[in-house]
Amino acid sequence: MILASELEVHSTFELLSLYPYKYVDRSRIYEIRELRGDMPYVQVRGRFISMKTVEGKQKRLSAIFTDGTGTIEVVWFKSLNFFKQNINAQHEYILFGKPSVFNHSINLTHPEMERADRPSASVGILQPFYNTSEAMKRAGLHTQGMQKLMHNILSVITTPMPETMPLWLVNHCHLMSRDQAIREVHFPHNTPTLEKARYRLKFEELFYVQMSLLKNKSTQRREIRGIQIKTSGDLLSRFYKECIPFEPTNAQKKVIREIYSDMGSGRQMNRLLQGDVGSGKTLVALMSMLIAVGNGLQACIMAPTEILATQHYESLTKMSQGLGIRIELLTGSTKKKLRTPILEGLADGDVNIVVGTHALLEDTVVFRRLGLAVIDEQHRFGVAQRAKLWNKNLLSPKEESLLSSGNDNSTENTSAPPHILVMTATPIPRTLAMTVYGDLDVSVIDELPPGRKPIVTEHYLHNNRNSLNSFIRQQLQAGRQCYVVYPLIEESEKMDFKNLTEGFEYMKDAFPEYKVCMVHGKLSPEEKDEAMRQFSSGEAQIMVATTVIEVGVNVPNATIMLIESAERFGLSQLHQLRGRVGRGGEQSYCILVTSAKMSDDTQRRMRVMTDTNDGFIIAEADMRMRGPGDIQGTQQSGLPFNLHIANLVRDGELVGYTRDFAKQLLAADPFLQAPENAVVSQQLYLLSKSKLNWGAIS
Ligand code: ADP
Ligand code: MG
Repeated sequence: MILASELEVHSTFELLSLYPYKYVDRSRIYEIRELRGDMPYVQVRGRFISMKTVEGKQKRLSAIFTDGTGTIEVVWFKSLNFFKQNINAQHEYILFGKPSVFNHSINLTHPEMERADRPSASVGILQPFYNTSEAMKRAGLHTQGMQKLMHNILSVITTPMPETMPLWLVNHCHLMSRDQAIREVHFPHNTPTLEKARYRLKFEELFYVQMSLLKNKSTQRREIRGIQIKTSGDLLSRFYKECIPFEPTNAQKKVIREIYSDMGSGRQMNRLLQGDVGSGKTLVALMSMLIAVGNGLQACIMAPTEILATQHYESLTKMSQGLGIRIELLTGSTKKKLRTPILEGLADGDVNIVVGTHALLEDTVVFRRLGLAVIDEQHRFGVAQRAKLWNKNLLSPKEESLLSSGNDNSTENTSAPPHILVMTATPIPRTLAMTVYGDLDVSVIDELPPGRKPIVTEHYLHNNRNSLNSFIRQQLQAGRQCYVVYPLIEESEKMDFKNLTEGFEYMKDAFPEYKVCMVHGKLSPEEKDEAMRQFSSGEAQIMVATTVIEVGVNVPNATIMLIESAERFGLSQLHQLRGRVGRGGEQSYCILVTSAKMSDDTQRRMRVMTDTNDGFIIAEADMRMRGPGDIQGTQQSGLPFNLHIANLVRDGELVGYTRDFAKQLLAADPFLQAPENAVVSQQLYLLSKSKLNWGAIS
C-alpha cells in the first residue's frame, strides 16, 4: 500500500497520527464585495447566474456567481461537461478557492465546490491540510484525499479509541481524551478545541519521550547527590528588600523558585536556563548565587569572553552593593599581583562570588565550598568544561568528616559537586540536547521585562549610505548610541580586518562631532576594557566592533545595531547581535547591510530577521535552513521515537513540564506496576518498536 511505502504507516493507529500540518479557516464566509486579488483562500456562498463555454487557445467554461453583494467569475479548464451538466442555477453553493484578478474582475479558478444545503465535512470548519508526497498524490492521496480517508476512518470507528495516558494524569492536567483529541485534530470544531486537542497530543508525545529517557538506567544514574541547602537565606531577602533595581518578571520569579527547589532537593542541580536575549538571565543568576552564598557556600559565574565577564562583574558588584559580600573578577589577564589574593580567597572561602572566563577552569583555581556554578552563554562551552567545574572543591576527606560530624552548621554533603546552572539564549540545540541526553532540566524565561519596544529591523543595501547616516545622526542627536559590527572570519582575516579598520575611519569621518571607539579580538585586554568603558559610560557614542560583542554586552542606551556584510552571519548570530539593542525603554533599530547581489539564502535570512523578533522562530528557521542534521550530537544519540506533533523548539516548556510528571510517576512507581500505570508500560512497549525519524523535528 502506498502509505506503507511512503510514510511507513502500517496501522490505523499510525495513520491517525499523521496529523495535519496546517488548517485553513473555513468557518468564515466572505462577501463577494470584500474580495481582493491578494487574499489567500476564501469561501463565498451564492448562486450561479450564467454560464458559457469560451473557445480560444484553451477552451474554458466561465460562469458568473453572485451572493447579492457583487459578482465573480468562476473558471474551469477541465471537466467542462461535468460542471455544465451538474451545476444547477436553483441551488446555492459554497465555493472555496484563491481569488485572483483577471480582466479587472475577481476570478476563482477550479474552486472547491459544495452544495450549501449539503456541505461536506470541511465546510464551516478549520480545514486540515496534510503533508503528501508526489507518489501519494499520484495515487489520489493529495490533501483532500487524505482528508476524506481520515474522515472515513473516523466515521467507522464508533467506539471511543482507548486512552493511552494514565487517567490520573489526564484528570490532573485537564487533558482532552485521546478519542476526542484525535477526532478534533483532524476535524476541529473551532480554534480553542483544536488547541486543546493539539496540546493533549503534544503532551502525550513529550511525556512518553521523557518516560523512555528517564526509565533508561543511564539517566537515573545521573541523579547525583548534591549539596542540600536548607533556606533561601537571609542574603536573598536582603537583596530583595534593599538592592534589587527592578521587580523581577513573573518568568524570572518562576525560574528562581525552580532553582531554589532544585538546590534544596538533595540532588545535584543540572539546569538549563533558556531565555531570549534581553530576558534578564543575569538577575536570575545573581539571585541564585545569593541563595548559595546565603547558605555559606561560594558561587561562580563563567562567561565566554573577557568583555562579558568584566561586564557581569561590574553589574553584579553594583547590584549587590551593601550586602557585604566579596565578589572578584578572574580572567586570563588578571595580573599575578591581583590573582594571588583572589586564589587565596577562593581557597579559604573569603571570596563569595567569582566572575570569570575559562580562566576559572585552571587547576590553580580551587574553592573552599563551591555551591553553585553558573555558566553563561553555554553554547560557547563544551560539556567537558562544564564537568571540570565539578571537582573544584578543596576539602580533604578528613575535613569533610569533621564538617559532617556537626562542626558546620550551614550545609551537609560538602564534598558533593556544585549545582550547575547553564544559561543560553539559543533555544534549539539545548532543548534537543535535554531530550536527547536527558541530563538537563530546563527552565524558560518566556517573558521580556516590561516596557520593551520591539526592535525594528531593516535591510539596507550597501550603496544606500546617505540615508543611513542621516538616520544614525538623528539617533545620536537624541542622545542614543550606535554599534557598527563587522564580520571577522579567520579564513579571510586580513581582508576583514582591513574592512573593520576602514569602517572605523569611515565612521570617524562621517561623524566628526562624535566619539567613535573600536573593539576587536586583537586588542590587549586593557585596550578592550577601555573601549568598552568609553562606550558604556556614554563617552563614546559609536562603537565599531567585531562579533566579540555578540554575547551578553549590555548598554541600554544603545539603540542602533548596524551589521555590515550581514550576509556573512548566520541567523542565530544576527539575532544575538540584535539583542544588544532594545535593552532600555527607547525604540531600537537593527540595520542589516548587504550588497545588492544576494543569494536566495541571504534573502531568506534577511526576511526572517525583518519579519520577527522571536528567538524561537529564528532558531527554527535557522534549523530548517541548515537542517536538523547539523545540530551537534543529535544524530548519534537519537530520540526514542518519532515526533508527529510536538516540536522540541516551540514546545520547550512542555518538554520540562511533562518531564516533571514522568519523574513523579517513576518516583512513585519505578517499575510501572500499579494498575493505573499499566497503560504507560504498554505504550512504552509499543512506542519502542516504532522508528526514529529526525525529519519530524523541524
Ligand atoms: P540576557 O537574558 O540577555 O542575559 P540581561 O540579563 O543582560 O539579559 O538583561 C537585559 C536587560 O534587562 C538589562 O539591562 C537588565 O538590567 C534588564 N532587566 C532584567 N530584568 C529586568 C526586570 N525584571 N525589569 C526590568 N529590567 C530588567
Ligand atoms: Mg546575558
